This record gives sequence, structure tokens and C-alpha cells, in this order.
Amino acid sequence: MSLLRKSLAANSSIFTPSEAPTIAMIHSSSHRRRLFSSSKRRSRGPVMAAKKASGGEKQEEGRYKHTVDLPKTTFGMRANALVREPEIQKLWEDNQVFKRVVDNNNGENFVLHDGPPYANGDLHMGHALNKILKDVINRYKSMDQEARKDLTTSKLRAKAAKFAKATVKTQMTSFKRYGVWADWDNPYLTLDPEYEAAQIEVFGQMVFQGYVYRGRKPVHWSPSSRTALAEAELEYPEGHVSKSIYAIFSLVSAPPASDGLLEEFFPDLCLAIWTTTPWTVPANADLRIIAQLRIAVAVNAKLQYAVIEVQSFSGDVSTSSGNKKQRLGHVLKEEKKPFLIVASDLVSTLEAKWGTKLVVKKTLLGSDLENCRYIHPIDKRECPVVIGGDYITTESGTGLVHTAPGHGREDYITGLKYGLPIISPVDDDGKFTEEAVQFSGLDVLGDGNIAVVKYLDEQMSIIMEESYQHNYPYDWRTKKPTIFRATEQWFASVEGFRQTVMEAISQVKWIPPQGENRITAMTSSRSDWCISRQRTWGVPIPVFYHLETKEPLMNEETVDHIKSIIAQKGSDAWWYMKVEDLLPEKYRDQASGYEKGTDTMDVWFDSGSSWAAVLGKRNGARFPADLYLEGTDQHRGWFQSSLLTSIATKGKAPYSSVITHGFVLDEKGCKMSKSLGNVVDPHTIIEGGKTQRLEAPGYGADVLRLWVSSVDYTGDVMIGPQVLRQMSDIYRKLRGTLRYLLGNLHDWEADNAISYNDLPMIDKHALFQLENVVNTIKESYDNYHFFKIFQIIQRFVIVDLSNFYFDVAKDRLYVGGTTSFTRRSCQTVLAAHLLSIVRVIAPILPHLAEDVWQNLPFQFTVQDGSAAKFVFESKWPAPNGKWLAFPIEEIDFWRKILELRTEVNKVLEVARAGKLIGSSLEAKVYLHTSDACLASRLHERCAASNDADALNRIFITSQKVKTILPFGHLYGNVQVEMIQHLKHDVIETIPCTGEYLVEGNDRVWIGVAPAEGLKCERCWNYTPQVGSFVEHPTLCGRCYKVVAVQPEPAVAAVS
Ligand SMILES: [Zn+2]
Repeated sequence: MSLLRKSLAANSSIFTPSEAPTIAMIHSSSHRRRLFSSSKRRSRGPVMAAKKASGGEKQEEGRYKHTVDLPKTTFGMRANALVREPEIQKLWEDNQVFKRVVDNNNGENFVLHDGPPYANGDLHMGHALNKILKDVINRYKSMDQEARKDLTTSKLRAKAAKFAKATVKTQMTSFKRYGVWADWDNPYLTLDPEYEAAQIEVFGQMVFQGYVYRGRKPVHWSPSSRTALAEAELEYPEGHVSKSIYAIFSLVSAPPASDGLLEEFFPDLCLAIWTTTPWTVPANADLRIIAQLRIAVAVNAKLQYAVIEVQSFSGDVSTSSGNKKQRLGHVLKEEKKPFLIVASDLVSTLEAKWGTKLVVKKTLLGSDLENCRYIHPIDKRECPVVIGGDYITTESGTGLVHTAPGHGREDYITGLKYGLPIISPVDDDGKFTEEAVQFSGLDVLGDGNIAVVKYLDEQMSIIMEESYQHNYPYDWRTKKPTIFRATEQWFASVEGFRQTVMEAISQVKWIPPQGENRITAMTSSRSDWCISRQRTWGVPIPVFYHLETKEPLMNEETVDHIKSIIAQKGSDAWWYMKVEDLLPEKYRDQASGYEKGTDTMDVWFDSGSSWAAVLGKRNGARFPADLYLEGTDQHRGWFQSSLLTSIATKGKAPYSSVITHGFVLDEKGCKMSKSLGNVVDPHTIIEGGKTQRLEAPGYGADVLRLWVSSVDYTGDVMIGPQVLRQMSDIYRKLRGTLRYLLGNLHDWEADNAISYNDLPMIDKHALFQLENVVNTIKESYDNYHFFKIFQIIQRFVIVDLSNFYFDVAKDRLYVGGTTSFTRRSCQTVLAAHLLSIVRVIAPILPHLAEDVWQNLPFQFTVQDGSAAKFVFESKWPAPNGKWLAFPIEEIDFWRKILELRTEVNKVLEVARAGKLIGSSLEAKVYLHTSDACLASRLHERCAASNDADALNRIFITSQKVKTILPFGHLYGNVQVEMIQHLKHDVIETIPCTGEYLVEGNDRVWIGVAPAEGLKCERCWNYTPQVGSFVEHPTLCGRCYKVVAVQPEPAVAAVS
């Protein structure tokens, strides 16, 4: 469609009579007579007439009232969701519909494996989004042609069994109210003995594969909860400020290989380092273990370093404002300042920062510094300079990194390379141990850190102390900072099976596709998984330690034995049973030499084992699952832990597809928070409630679900009062559509159906559109593109149905004659629409769909001949190839007709507004087109053999009225006449005209004049036929025929 056409139609195409060229008129005299007659006569059509009559008033029009088929239905216009939805849920529950649907499906299962633990009991919009998405998928799969059995399970867990179980119960109640269907009587809980045993089995298999090892490595340690933590248990709050220091360590020797490179600067040469964790500097200052080197300074072999002279110190640059605090150390205030080694690229930065002039005396490569030795400022021992990796950059600091292998991941790797022992003088509470001598007992994150800085400054080792804001890991439970600390832990060797994991990732379908990049990046870079935790709750690591040698005892026999105990008694047995009972027979006599391990497994190992506990164990739950669906944060959480355990033991991913959704934001795209007062609560959306100022209406679960379907969940999604009002409007339109269908099928039964081949073209066209819509919706469900379904349905209902087919259909349905071909064929189409629409929306709007189904005026039988009592027993609409095979030239023609109809309406509107015709219901439309082919086809339509396809039935005029009429419209057909030659004198007689280009090409001329003849009392249409039937002088030809086969009853019918 071109813009040109639009502008012609909208602006320049309307001529007033005086502007029209003078051409001889083509029309009958009756028309002429009424051309300027009053248009004020108020017309009352059958709807109003029937309304009046049913109100008991004796009206002239009442004479034909009983021959008019008005819609009737028990299905309410208002949703009344707060009452009706719980009733429908009770109906499902009382009739065990979920179970019936599952039991009646005998096809292949579809397994959607439900996700990881919710940390607390309060449900928010994120939960609603997640659970409703899952439910939409499950309900769709349950209706799908392939008759797949759905399965969803709820998994919830918290600290203690009692709390977990109470949480499960309250959350279930909420989920049920959202309309979420699940096997609620049979959820899986990670604290079920059966589940715990499966988890022990996964752990055991990983042990036997050689993927589990015990090691002393720095891990994230939470002093506040006294346990190791995994990456997924950390959060990085904004605004963390560390105390960073620029410190110097005095060099004492260079390796012989350096050829006296640094000779000239001794003994006043120092390494300058920068660290944000000064407390790691002591590392191990215990002089009693003097033989071992504990720490080092690392450089990047490829970087250029400079020996610099510190000149013209400009004075104290100490500042203190807000979070930014700086203080110079004593060393810069000394007369004689040492030469320093820093990365060349950082010289100017450091000059500015320290307020000094730095002069480069010599440059050298990092590799030249390897094996230089420096004196540690605390224990005065010699330590080496080592080569670190590319993690050493010139982005910040000095380019030299203080390396304490017990307190950092990269430090650990560098330490391994140089054989540095992994020791940290810090205890479980985050306090220095006696190994740290003078700092013993001080808190490394508090007074210990301060004491170290003070001591270093006294030793003339601090250039500057500076506050530094950065991302720092906090314990997600206690919200307190963590440290890196080397402890004995159990690890899963991700390195051991990383390649298989990466291959498996590429085999999974990630929706949206960016998910693959996220999990690939996270998994390829992750270090070995620390799976042990120092907690008193959870599933134990089933290991015994020899009392003397501390050697662990863990093999197939011991793990199997413990697994069988836990399967019966639960994991508590580990804590209350004696070692000798926990050991298998074979080891009993050695029991006194062993103790139980006290570590438990990471909760992500718990949830990451769910595939083993649920899939392949429960009825019908196949491994791998078809789908996992959670928030994007699970790429580093559940998706990953499940993947790792599954790969390590089964060699393949536990899922075929993974869908992730974003977070729920408010209408403006802001994060929801209590302090902002923008929190949208799912309970309030459903039940209503008081927001800060306004009373919030209760929209019911279906409006909430409609919102879920409307958003592109792959990114962050927005919700708020305005969005909800829009959803509610759309819901109402859908409901109105379904009500129209139900109302006009009140006397329908399947036997009334007209066979497809006999249907008028308008009906075949409608079925063609319906079949297309159903197919596109199915494709969208299959691809999980629910927002497309939302858009398709909305457009279909408004544009194709309300604005056209339903509008046109009213005449056929109400006055076409109860059992007439035109009404029955229309009902055939309506029945197909009702049965299709109600089923395709059911996964998203189950309450609305069931409400419709329970009000169906006829029975629906499925393929096996049984009646579908509930919408979810009805299955997905069967594909209908015949409907789709609508000829292409007909599709093209109908598109033109619909375009023409829109243009005709515009001219009618102008004519009505200008009072050039009477009421909108009495118009005659003249058409002329230069396109001979189109003209001929339109001409055919003017005299269509079946009434339904006739142009005058398709071009209707309607007038919105604000009265309480059932469907809010007065309507009437227009008369249509094709003009073969557009002559001047013809145009002159027509009061209102316009023209437009068909699809941008051929011109169509439209004229509108008052209709000919008189108004039919029964159908309101104007025709010269009125007055020609003696028995019914006020009827048109069509109505005369209808009334003749429906004899007037002796007593007026009561509707
Ligand atoms: Zn009539």
C-alpha cells in the first residue's frame, strides 16, 4: 500500500456536489426525491425492536421480533475473576482434571524440570513470571497433538526442614492461585531421604571417576558464617571501599645472570607494590619455619619496568573527602629516598598520585627481575621475585604484585609454579593465628589490617595509603565481606571434564541464544569447584578420616553403604550414628581408628543433583529433561551446577533446551524496591489491594498471565498499573469476542454444519485466516515466543473478527432466518472459531478458556468419541489443510475487498457527517474502477448467488450507540452498484464521492448517495422491494422469504 493511496483517501479524494463535474444522472427518481430529505428519522432495527418487545411494550416492530435470532449466553460479560477463578480452580481440583489430562495422554513425555531453591518465602513478580511461563508451556504441551505427558515439579528448600516445608506450603498456595498446574501432592524436596541418597550417589560417581579431590587451596571464605563459599554464593554490593597501600620492599640481590644490570642502585633499591589487602603481607612471618619461603612479589615477564628516582617531593598530598582518603607514608618524608622499581607505563600516574617528580634512571623487562631477592619488611627474611601471568597489568597499582599463595587464586597458581607452600595465618573467624606473631588474634578485615599498615609504615615501607572503591565479594547470606583463605577442602575437578562440558553446551538449545555465550564464558574460565562447606546442616560429604594419618577413607563400598543408610533414614543419620555403623561390614573392626568428616556439600551440589533425584527416577520423568527454565542468574547457578554433575557422571547435559528470562522491573524500567514504593506484588494484581494512594483493582490470575505472555521475557520486563490496565482491556476484548461466539451459537449443534465446499467465499476466507492464525500460534508455542501469540490473537480478534467478520455476520445471524443457509454457514464458521480460539488461548488464559468451555451450548467430542468435559481434555485443534488451500487469487481479491470496504467507510463517514445522506443505515454506494478484472469481479459480487458473498452484505454501515443494546451497534447493509463508465453527469448526481488507488495502482471511484426504496421493518435495510408483498408490506424480499417459512405464532414468543 502506498502512501499516495492513503493520502488520497484521507484528504484529497472527497468532492462536494458543487465541485463535481456535471454528468447526466444514472439513477432512479425515487433516489432523487429523497436526496435532500430529512435524515433525522430515527431508525430502530431488529435489535432495538426485540429489546423493546421483550420489555413487554407493544411495538409495531414487535410483529417480527420472534423471527429475529439474537445472541443468548450464560457466559458473563464481566470476568468477575475474584469469584470465578477460584470456582474454576475448584472445578479442576474436584474433578482431578490435571490428573485426567496426564493420565489420558499416552504419547511421549515432555519433561520440564523445575528449578532451584528459592531462598525465602516471599514470592515476588520474578517468581510469578517464572512459574507462569512454565505453566503456559506445560499446559500447551498437555494439549499438543502428540499427546505428551507433562510433568512439573516444585522444588523448594531453606535452612531447616520445618521452615522449608512451611515455605513449600505457602508458596504452593500462591502458585495454585496463579493457575499453575503441577503435581502438587508429590513435589520433590532436596531434604527427602530419597533425594539425598541420589545426591550421595552423584557425589560417589564423581569420586570414582577421579573428579573429586581434597586440596589446600585458597577459597572464598566467609568469616561471618565460618564456611567456604562458592562463586554462586557471593554477591558484589556497590560501594565497598578497601584500604589499599603502596608499599616498598628492599632489594638485596640480583641473580648472577643479570650481569650487574641493577648493580649501581644497590643498596637503595626497592620494589614498589600495591595491594588492596594489606593483611596478606604478613602471610607467614613465623620465624620457626624459616626454611620455607611463603610469599613473593610477582612481575609480568613481558612488561617493561623502570628504575626511578624520587625527586622534589611537593609536600603532603593527604586528603580526606567522603570515601576518598589518602595519606602519605613516612618514607617519602625522609631526606634520602630509595630508588624504586615500577612498571614504566605507570610512572606518570604514580607521579601525580604521590605528588613527586619521578625520574626514570633505567628500564628493563619483567623477566630480568626474576629471582631478584628482597627483604620482607615484617620477618626480615629474603623472598624472591617471581614471574606471574597476564593477570599483572598496568591498569592500576605499580605492575608488581604482592603474592600470597594462601590468599589469592592467581597467587596460588604462581605459588604452585615456584613451589611456594600454601599457608595462611588466618583462622575460621578471619583472625590472625599465632603464626602471624605480633598480629595474632586481630581481625584481618578490621584491626588486623590497620595494625599491618601501621607496622609497615613504622618500618619505612609505606609510600601511600589510599581508600579504594571496587567490587568485593560478600557472603550472600550474612551480607558481610569474605576473604580468600587457603583451607583443606573437597573440590570437583572441572579441569578434568571441561572439554566435555564445552561440547555439551554447544549441543543444548539456548533460548535466547546469548545464553550460550554466557554459560560458555562462565564455564570455560571457572576454576575447580569447591564443594565442601563447614556447616551443620545439609548433606554430608561421606568421608572418614584416619585419626592419626588424617588420610581420608572413601571408596565405592563406603559410599554405597552410606547411601543406603541415608535413603532410609535421611542425612541426619550421618550425625547421630556411630562410625562403626556408618562403615560397611568390612571396615567395622577398624572403626575406632576413624572419625567422620564434618563437612557438608555446597547447596549448589544439592540442587545440581536434582536431575539424578528426579529425572529417570520418577514416573515418566526422562533423562535428560526437555527443558530447564529459570532467570538469567542461573547461568552461574543451577544451570551450571546441574551441567557439571551431569557431565561428570553421565557424560551429557541434563537438559536439551534451556530458557532464561530477565528480571521484572517497574513501568519506567527501574528496579523494584520497597524504598521507591514501586513494588508490584503478584498477590495484589490478582486479588486487588491498597497501593500507596490508589485502590488497586483485583485483576485475577488470567490478566497476570496475559501480561506474562505479552512480554519478551528473554530480556528484562516491565510491569505497573498502566500496563495492567492495558492488559485488562485486551482481556475484556478477548472475553467479548468469545461471548459473541457463544451467544450466536446458542442453538448450534454439529449436525447443523455446512460442508466446507458449500460455504460462501467470505466463510472460506474466514476459515483460511483462522487456520493461519492457529498454525502461527502453534509455531510460536513450539518456539516459546509467547509474546507473538499475544500479538497475533489481539490483531486477529480486533481487525479480522470484530471489525469485519463479526460485523458483517450480524445481519446473517440475526435476521438471516434461524435455519437458513446463510445463518447456518455463518455459525459453521463461528463454531470453528470458538473451538479454536478457546483452545489456543487455554495455556495462557486457562480460567477464561475453562469458563467458556463450561458455557458451551453444545458438546465437543474428541477423536476417540468421548466428550471433552474440560477445555484441557479437548486437545489442540487438528490441522485443517483444506481451509489453508484457499486459492491465492481469492486471497488477493479478499485483500482488495477489505481495502475497498475501509475506503467506502471513509466516504460514508464523510457523507454522514455532512448530512448528505440520511442516517448511516440508508446509503447507496456507487463504485467504478478502471481495472477491468477487478470491476468484473466486483460486479459478480454485486449479484452473488449466495447472499453472504454479496457486496451489499459486506459493505455495511454501522453506528455506535451508547444504549444498553447487547452488542452496542446499529447496523444495516448498503446498496451497491457498479458503474461501468464514469461520466460527468453521473458524478454530478451523487452527493458524496471519493477515490483511492488499489494497492497503489488502479484508481477506484466511490460515490455515496441515499439509498433507494424504503426501510424493511425487520432488517432495517432499504430496498425498493419494500411494499411489494401484500401480506408483509413492510418487509424486504429476503425478510419476506424468512418470515414465510417461519409462520407467525399465535402468541408472541417471550425471549
Ligand atoms: Zn428485511
